[in-house]
Amino acid sequence: MTYPRVALIGLGLIASSMFWAMRRAGMDSHVTGYARSASTRDTARRIGLCDTICDSAEAAVRDADLVVLAVPVGAMGAIAATIAPHLKPGCTVTDVGSVKASVIEAVAPHLPNGVNFVPAHPMAGTEHSGPESGFASLFDNRWCLIVPEGAPEQATAQLESYWQALGASTERMEVAHHDLVCAVVSHVPHLIAYTMVGVADDLRRVSDQEVIKFSAAGFRDFTRIAASDPTMWRDVFLTNKDAALEILGRFTEELFALQRAIRTGDGDTLFDYFTHTRSIRRGIL
Ligand code: NAD
Repeated sequence: MTYPRVALIGLGLIASSMFWAMRRAGMDSHVTGYARSASTRDTARRIGLCDTICDSAEAAVRDADLVVLAVPVGAMGAIAATIAPHLKPGCTVTDVGSVKASVIEAVAPHLPNGVNFVPAHPMAGTEHSGPESGFASLFDNRWCLIVPEGAPEQATAQLESYWQALGASTERMEVAHHDLVCAVVSHVPHLIAYTMVGVADDLRRVSDQEVIKFSAAGFRDFTRIAASDPTMWRDVFLTNKDAALEILGRFTEELFALQRAIRTGDGDTLFDYFTHTRSIRRGIL
């Protein structure tokens, strides 16, 4: 069963892709949208995103059966506090944040009894942001992790069906495990990509023009995600601190081991390491 009325709060890559995916799936839900900036709301109206663009979050969520919080994770708590008095009893509130423990901590205390909170995280994205960056197939063949944390079974199952209709496969996950998994597969890789661009920029003996000109040799592919939105990624690291630091520590250990192998001319260690990691990487489509 789809939701008759859906409110999208935050109209960036994820929310706009959800809207187009809902339309592609033939869902006839009435969709309201809200973003903080007037220019984003104007853009959304111009491109036909949502049935109604509201000038306040309160107006957008009124009567909604599903409310999707699709703002940077650091903004989730304040939005939840704003909309809480205006939520329809029995509705489901979900989010799409890349971090779960801190979002649950920030959002759950504001929600009134009788409102179901089912956190979720679509594992899909691009380096682009804003209302014009969304597209209907973003979630196709991607995972959407559902972190029910005590939400009623019926509300959780309905949200799973909704995400499956948008093209994703769903899997339930415990909150701390979610944050650790995402630190490994997403958060720290983004940090390393940002760092690699920083290193190239800092290296005065290689000019920016040379980096751009010769970047096909690994740099371009490897650092694509360093073009991602800085607000989103600042919030991810501020809110997934423990897991990010744990994975960063492991990464640093591996890097030091390889640094030592290079310095000492230990080709066997390098070869074995690359052989092992290549076989793992080749298993990822
Ligand atoms: P985005 O930058 O494309 O869009 C964010 C939207 O939120 C913008 O419309 C912005 O105007 C609005 N916004 C920001 N602060 C706000 C506030 N205080 N109140 C109301 N609106 C506000 O971001 P996105 O990529 O769509 O990310 C949204 C959420 O999805 C984030 O929590 C992010 O962690 C999560 N996410 C992102 C990706 C990705 O790869 N981009 C993947 C999975 C999950």
